[in-house]
Formats: sequence, C-alpha cells, structure tokens
Amino acid sequence: MDEKKNNTKGKKTSVAIVDISEHENVEEAVAHGINLIKPRLSFNFNSSNQILLKPNLLIAKENACTQPSFVAGVISFLKNEGVSMKNVLIGDSPGQFKKNATEIAKKIGLFEICDSEGIKFVNFDDEVPSSEIIPNGKRINEYYVSKPIKDCDIIINLPKLKTHGEASMTGAVKNYWGIIPGGLKAKLHLKGKSPDEFGECIADNYSWISNNKPNRITIYDLDCVMQGTMGPVSGKMVDWNLLLVGTDELALDTIALAIGKFKGRYIPHLKQLRERDIGVGDIEDIEIFGISLEEAKRKTPKFKIPGSRMVKLSSYITSRIIYRVTKKVPRLNAEKCIKCGECAKNCPANAIESEKGEYPHFQRKNCISCLCCAELCIRQAINTKRRGIGGLFHSF
Ligand code: SF4
Ligand code: SF4
Repeated sequence: MDEKKNNTKGKKTSVAIVDISEHENVEEAVAHGINLIKPRLSFNFNSSNQILLKPNLLIAKENACTQPSFVAGVISFLKNEGVSMKNVLIGDSPGQFKKNATEIAKKIGLFEICDSEGIKFVNFDDEVPSSEIIPNGKRINEYYVSKPIKDCDIIINLPKLKTHGEASMTGAVKNYWGIIPGGLKAKLHLKGKSPDEFGECIADNYSWISNNKPNRITIYDLDCVMQGTMGPVSGKMVDWNLLLVGTDELALDTIALAIGKFKGRYIPHLKQLRERDIGVGDIEDIEIFGISLEEAKRKTPKFKIPGSRMVKLSSYITSRIIYRVTKKVPRLNAEKCIKCGECAKNCPANAIESEKGEYPHFQRKNCISCLCCAELCIRQAINTKRRGIGGLFHSF
C-alpha cells in the first residue's frame, strides 16, 4: 500500500471512552467499549484466520503490564462473536533485559487465562522474523518484524498508558515497538539516541503497521495508569478507572493525553505522526462515544510526564549504555558443533559465514540478536550471552 493512501488529514475517527466503574467488572467494560466501536469497523472478527492480541508485557510486574482482565474481556467478546479460539494468538517481545514474554505472562497470570481458553501464547522472539521495508522511514528503512505480526489478519492492540523514560509516554502507538524482535530493538535504539530521534524510529515502525496491517482495533488500559520518572517499569500507579477503544492509535493517544490534561510540549513520536499525516491527531476530528471527554477529564487526575531534561538524560543513558550492555549475542560452543551450516541458512540477517567443513563465523555488525540460530541449532551448539561491559566499546 502506498503510504500516501494513509493520509488521513481532514478525515475523522471514533474513540469510545468507558468508565469501568459503571460496569460489573473490567471484562464487561471491555465488551461494552468494543461494541460501541464495532459498527465502524471495516472487518469481521469471525471471518479472520488469525487474530493476534498484542498486550504490553514489559517486565514481570503486574503494574507494568496490560492487565490480564483486559485480555479476558477481549476473549469473552470474541467468543460471543463466534470466533474459534484456534484462530486467536497472543504474544509480545519485551526485549532481552530480563524475562521473555512467556515467563512474564506466566508470572502475571495471563498465560493461565489463555491456556484455559485454548489460545496459543507466542513469544515473538522464538521464530525467524520477517524482513520488511519502510519506504519513507526517516531512521529505519529496512528491519525485521516478528512473524506472528506479519502473518495475522487482525491485530487487537492492548496497550497500557505509562510514562516512558525515553519516549515520554507509552501507549497505543508505542505498544507496536514490541513487534520488533527483542535484540533488534536494542540495535535500533542506537539509531535514536535523542528523544526526537527515538520518536522518529517509533513513527517509522508505526508507519509499517499503518501501511501493512489495516485491520486493527485498540483496547487501551487506562484503569490504573503509571506516571512519574520511573515509568514504564516502576512509576507511581494512579487510578483512572477508564478504558478507550478505537482504530486510530494517534487519536487514542491524543484522547488519553487530553483526559490527563497534558498540556506540555508534543510527545516526539506523536508529533512525527502528525507531521507525516499518519492518523488523526486533532481532537475536533475525533467522534467520542460512551462518556464525554469533559466527564472523563473531570474524574481523572493530571497525567504527570517526566520533564524534557529527564527524558533527554534517560534517553542518553539507555541508548549509550543499557542497551549496549544488556543485548544478548550468540556464542558458539565448538565442542557441540558438527559444522552442518544450518545456522547460516536460518539466519535472517545473513550474519553467519559458513564454509563447508568449517565452524560458523558470526558477523557481529550484521547480527540483529534475534537468537534464531541458538533456537534452531539441533545440537544446541550456540549459547546466548549478554555483551556486558564489552558492549560499550562497540558502535553496533
Ligand atoms: S547449526 Fe549448530 S551444529 Fe550446525 S554449524 Fe551451526 S552451530 Fe554448528
Ligand atoms: S547470528 Fe543468530 S542472533 Fe545474529 S542475526 Fe543471525 S540468527 Fe539472529
């Protein structure tokens, strides 16, 4: 699809604002919100072959993740629509800092919910990623997205509103950063060393979603919002008791910030989307269903976002130090290797040189740290290791 077709200037979209406290529970509130937007959807849930649920599973702390009750609400809605749970997947890629998506889902009780419903949980990092082009990307032109994202025909985006050290806030648009396999996310951070540059990276990734995945709906967790300088991992939790539903992520983030009475500078990635005319960023162009924006504002405290100096400092530390040190890389265990060359064939980035009868040789500059080579080696001859302090001395 040509990116110009996504130009939504002058177009309108709809967002449902639901007061969760007016409903029996979160599950019922989720179903109510989706039903408010359903007449405006251009797709049917029950004619899909593969629906993918994409929550925010950052770290094994319930407050830092999309609440399992939101996922339970979506599952209940889909079952009422007659969707077979065999056609539903759920997954994420949180990066390589600590636990993987499956471990996090187990820890917060999400895995159990999906398992009991027969829904497959996918760790996005476990499969060979798909090589993709972003035609008008400012910082990212070629990259990789996780295969379940590439293969699905409907995405149900399940973000949680939180402040974010480098991006100022994470929500509907930023949640798609998780479609990039874990290790590659670390590498792409090196392309966005300042908050503005990182905003361009997030906008580039979102433009891929916007161009390639037209069937999307977002159910936005604003029940308990994380704010302050320690977001998105361990900021202060504040009750908003709200959720939003819509199909345009820029509009959803715009409404979430308006509810939080945020009146500061632009958030870099949202500013980028407005400049590129991707999505609907003017409140006048957003039709509100459910409770009114004014009512939502009245019942909600101010959303406290870290100041620009703090964001710059955090961005500097994260891009120049944390990602370089925590990134995992493959290491050959020569004692187990039988020199079959399969790892070189499986590497999506052509980062492994393999001559017949020789041990494979890893090209660190090309490696995207997807760790598929380690996953797929039948002899388990490839270990993974964090780069540690040595990573500080590499420019990749
Ligand atoms: S796939 Fe495994 S066994 Fe085969 S060459 Fe690569 S590391 Fe060695
Ligand atoms: S060498 Fe391994 S970790 Fe690096 S890109 Fe290739 S498959 Fe992925």
